[in-house]
Amino acid sequence: MNSPKFFRSINGDIPLPIFFPDATRAVVRSLDTSDIESTRTTGLLVNTFHLYKELGIDFLKKQGIRNFIDWSGGLISDSGGFQVGSLVKSNSKLGKVTDEGVIFKLDNNRILLTPELSIQIQMELGVDMAVVLDDFDHPNATKKESEISVKRTIDWAKRSKIEFEKICKDKGLGVINKPYLLGVIQGGRDRKLRKHCTEKLIEIGFDGLGYGGEEKVKGNINYDLAKYLAKLVPKNYFLYALGVGKPHDIVNLVKIGYNIFDCVLPTRDARHGRMYVYDANSIDEIDLTKKDFYYFFNPKKQQNLKNNEKISKACDCLTCTRYTKSYLCHLFRIGDFTAGRLATIHNLRFYSILMEKLRGF
Ligand SMILES: [Zn+2]
Repeated sequence: MNSPKFFRSINGDIPLPIFFPDATRAVVRSLDTSDIESTRTTGLLVNTFHLYKELGIDFLKKQGIRNFIDWSGGLISDSGGFQVGSLVKSNSKLGKVTDEGVIFKLDNNRILLTPELSIQIQMELGVDMAVVLDDFDHPNATKKESEISVKRTIDWAKRSKIEFEKICKDKGLGVINKPYLLGVIQGGRDRKLRKHCTEKLIEIGFDGLGYGGEEKVKGNINYDLAKYLAKLVPKNYFLYALGVGKPHDIVNLVKIGYNIFDCVLPTRDARHGRMYVYDANSIDEIDLTKKDFYYFFNPKKQQNLKNNEKISKACDCLTCTRYTKSYLCHLFRIGDFTAGRLATIHNLRFYSILMEKLRGF
């Protein structure tokens, strides 16, 4: 069994590893689709729950997301469970998690997000990879709570797979053109539980498994756990580090076999004036084995107004090709929308360069 080299998308294969930025509500904030394409970003992650809430399933059935945003690259949807689950777990007035699904109360409406509904919505979005609804733990969950969430996660994964196969059959989707289906491993800090969850998910059968990276050690990813899980997963599976993120974490996780990533960091940081810059004089000279292979540039600092240098010498994005630190500083200081747009374009190109360098790493 060989590890996957490509991620199959409707318009062609995308080489691994991949990083998809979050286009939660079918938009990468401040960018249009041509801007995203200019950054050589290979795919996007959209949020099932938000799109369902904003647009409704009938709208999605008619439009799909690709047509709606005119996007021809890769597309993954999350299950919607993380958003809904974190809301109801932090405030019981907003709803609760039951064996049936996640009940969410919103403006006098009651939405029940079941594993089946999550798959139904995702199948109407027209994505390349759908993710099953899981029941995640909070970081300080007791062993008993983790056991309940693992049992539920396995049960929901079974129900999701049945619904997925049923819809594929109805839509006439076969081996070549049906989307990938991803299971999610739960179990908190307990390795036995994690192992049990992983084995049961493999028994059900998926194209890949995801790990949330939610178990942190002093604010950092728990690499020991990430390695342990990577060894349990069959070689021909995708390994998805859900919501992971930081450039160093991506580099380290690629080394141990993870090949799909998504995160809000590059786009959210850009809007707050945190730009990622390689410590190199050209794209060719970027060295990911260096301890500090990048640094942050803050365009908001007053002193940049007098600086006519490019933001990064190791970048070929629109922002670095045409504009200076001085101009970015001015745009941020006057609070123009263009500041967020140009900074986001740059940060996304930083990430696409990172993934290009990591291919064959
Ligand atoms: Zn740039």
